[in-house]
Amino acid sequence: MKILVVNAGSSSVKYQLINMDDGSVMAKGLCERIGGTGGVGHITHTPLATGKEKYSSDKDFPTHAEAIAAVLEILTDKEYGVVKEISEIDAVGHRVLHGGMEFTESCIIDDAVIAAIERCIPLGPLHNPANLLGIKACQAVMPGVPQVAVFDTAFHMTMPPKAYRYAIEKKYYEEDHVRRYGFHGTSHRYIAQKAAEITGGVHRLINCHLGNGSSLCAIVDGKCVDTTMGLSPLAGVPMGTRSGDLDPCVVEYLCNTHGYTVSEMLTILNKKSGVLALSGKSSDFRDLEAGANAGDEDCALALEKFAYECRKYVGAYAAAMGGVDMITFTAGVGENSDTMRARICDGLQYMGVEIDEEANHQRGDVVDITGKNSKVKVMVIATNEELMIAKDTEALVLAAK
Ligand code: AMP
Repeated sequence: MKILVVNAGSSSVKYQLINMDDGSVMAKGLCERIGGTGGVGHITHTPLATGKEKYSSDKDFPTHAEAIAAVLEILTDKEYGVVKEISEIDAVGHRVLHGGMEFTESCIIDDAVIAAIERCIPLGPLHNPANLLGIKACQAVMPGVPQVAVFDTAFHMTMPPKAYRYAIEKKYYEEDHVRRYGFHGTSHRYIAQKAAEITGGVHRLINCHLGNGSSLCAIVDGKCVDTTMGLSPLAGVPMGTRSGDLDPCVVEYLCNTHGYTVSEMLTILNKKSGVLALSGKSSDFRDLEAGANAGDEDCALALEKFAYECRKYVGAYAAAMGGVDMITFTAGVGENSDTMRARICDGLQYMGVEIDEEANHQRGDVVDITGKNSKVKVMVIATNEELMIAKDTEALVLAAK
């Protein structure tokens, strides 16, 4: 089965065509600047199955429909294509940010599912409308091809009320659905499964998904019991440009002091905060490392603060689970930054966490960095959200046959 995985953002569409016979990526790419935001549209396409070079071209994408049409065109192109006809694509799996309380697992998209995703727009106002545009564009150009929605929030729906309820009046939960939802669920689920596969089963796992967006997740026997993000992806540890947790009164105070609207304040907290704000330089951890190594104190503080908050959550989740058997690192920073992994683990020795310095320098999709005397297994595992989306899509499509 060949599955097209689509991740539609407000002005971009990322895609991968995955051959489920062996899980290989046949082609992947990105359409940018849909709707003319920030200049002329652009498509980048890498036809991995052919061994050909990357294809890159300017192209006008007035809406998501033109972007999806361009993706199908290049996937079937004589020179850069990887399939002869669109009909070779068996199904489409869509990443959808917010499933609210409506979705506890992935599902085949029909009118009722679209209506439910629409109902979740107030909870995910930045992403759900774009995800819907991607779904509708695919439905229009690939009629009859099954479409599946895979939610970032679904994996976290096993959290107990003590983890997901906020200490505010019950009506806000019951009527407005205000609660912790959590995100990166597809990645946390992939790592939980992979960790169990590698070790033959893991009881209490803390997964650190550290990238441009970061979240940690406490997982017992493969099920999420707590996670750092909340109603939105703004909560938890500081991130590339997101503040992470702060006292809600900061919002009121800065709105009053500077005359910001709530929406302006939220843009600041989402786009101009995190390690970007702390360093005053960059949201990219590579730049921060370089800056800190060159003696920049703000870059050093940004790295220290990020590691400190991650380490605090590792301690909190060990307490929440009555211990921890395994810690995993994944995503851009988690997979690539040996220094950040070392910073986070440094100070967790009291919990029996030790990493092997030499192993920590190694690279690979799965690297065991557990120290010789460590009581807790520590591993780096590369995440693969697209494969997880494709697997869910395949399973649902086969079950529906
Ligand atoms: P992601 O959101 O998972 O794609 O992660 C992207 C982020 O990973 C980038 O913004 C960088 O901050 C970080 N990153 C990627 N490679 C490295 C590296 N070699 N060292 C430190 N950080 C890295």
